[in-house]
Amino acid sequence: MQDPAQRFAASRAWHERASRVLAGGVSSQFRAFGVFHPMHYVRAEGARIWDADGNELLDYTLAQGPCILGQSHPELVARVQRAVARAQLFAGQHEEEVLLAEALQRLIPCAERVRFASSGSEAAQACIRLARAVTGRQRILKFDGHYHGWLDSVAFNVAPPGNAAGDAPVPWCAGVAESAAADVVCLPWNDLDAVRQVMARQGAEIAAIITEPVMCNQGCIEPVPGFLQGLREICDAHGAALIFDEIITGFRLGLGGAQAHYGVTPDLALFGKALGSGFPLAAIVGRQRWMAPLEAGAAYHAGTMNGNNACVAAGLATVELLAREEGAALRHIAAMGARLRDGLAVLGVRHGLKLRVQGPGPMFNMAFSALPRATEFRHVAADDRASYQAFCRGMLLEGVRLIERGLWYVSAAHTEDDIAITLAAADRVLGRIA
Ligand code: PLP
Repeated sequence: MQDPAQRFAASRAWHERASRVLAGGVSSQFRAFGVFHPMHYVRAEGARIWDADGNELLDYTLAQGPCILGQSHPELVARVQRAVARAQLFAGQHEEEVLLAEALQRLIPCAERVRFASSGSEAAQACIRLARAVTGRQRILKFDGHYHGWLDSVAFNVAPPGNAAGDAPVPWCAGVAESAAADVVCLPWNDLDAVRQVMARQGAEIAAIITEPVMCNQGCIEPVPGFLQGLREICDAHGAALIFDEIITGFRLGLGGAQAHYGVTPDLALFGKALGSGFPLAAIVGRQRWMAPLEAGAAYHAGTMNGNNACVAAGLATVELLAREEGAALRHIAAMGARLRDGLAVLGVRHGLKLRVQGPGPMFNMAFSALPRATEFRHVAADDRASYQAFCRGMLLEGVRLIERGLWYVSAAHTEDDIAITLAAADRVLGRIA
């Protein structure tokens, strides 16, 4: 096994140089948590990425999710090139934008109206603004461990250790506006009774309940049966908006998102990541009643770059490629993901390790934990993160790139051979850890 200092020497040198000019050496905080140090890359194609040292890596980060088709799909690249050759940005409306919005309207149950944005964080903020505009209320209810972007209004109880029930919301990091805490109620997920109790007391103040329909960012936990339906009923009873953050579930659970998959239609939803296949594209979609403040010009959502030609072309290509052959690519992703997830669980048993591997398949989470199943944030807060880090380091040295917090993304470009290679590598690494 080669010494990581030698194996990633060029990346390390680039990181040191980058740190003298880029704050923290990165452009997003999530990139600062590198397995050894933030890596520098030169090229990616399909399911593989090459780093600055020339190492070829099988990639399960998919750029933190977006590259659902794999990297640099030739048809997507060609479509983006054609769009950019026409113009980069009209800052006016254009045909492909309408075509993409029509496709989303057709595919996503709640998408009576669509507005394009450039990132998931701002799309979450826009949904919250719409809920406040329609209800005239200020506060929002979010769940422990759910991430809805980096902006202040949702930057509470995001990561472990979280808060104990009843405690004040815990800001995600330094610099979050203290005043924002007054407008947030944080509750454990998958606990309808807790939501009912709070809404019974404070429902008249709550503009929206916002949730990831699968708790992807911590443990990749699916909703317990009836939970999403229960949220729908509670929101209806109290006149609050139900917002689904489909930034990760969007397209991974189907082109209609988690709302089509679970059969629960929210009032507003946000899509991003896979929607643009790596181009900065997000969408705010919703029932007409909840999007009405935008139509009336009463609530503003703006963005110089919104709906730019390259991103919209990437979105159209993504939707078309995923829909082709009645969703063959999505079926492939689900099958490969399930095979990998189940294979990792079997390896855990074979090596006598306490592993928890859970999630729907197109994305799933792996953790070192005595708890075989997690249903809420409290359960994942106690995961043995140091062992998972060691696993990620071992996998990187085996040529497999993973997200350090346990989330695995599978793309349409991953093959059966890739899954076999990955499981063989995991077998060796787990063998060394056991
Ligand atoms: N919502 C969820 C569920 C996410 O996972 C993320 C990003 O990881 C966001 C929102 C924020 O999206 P963006 O990074 O595009 O701002």
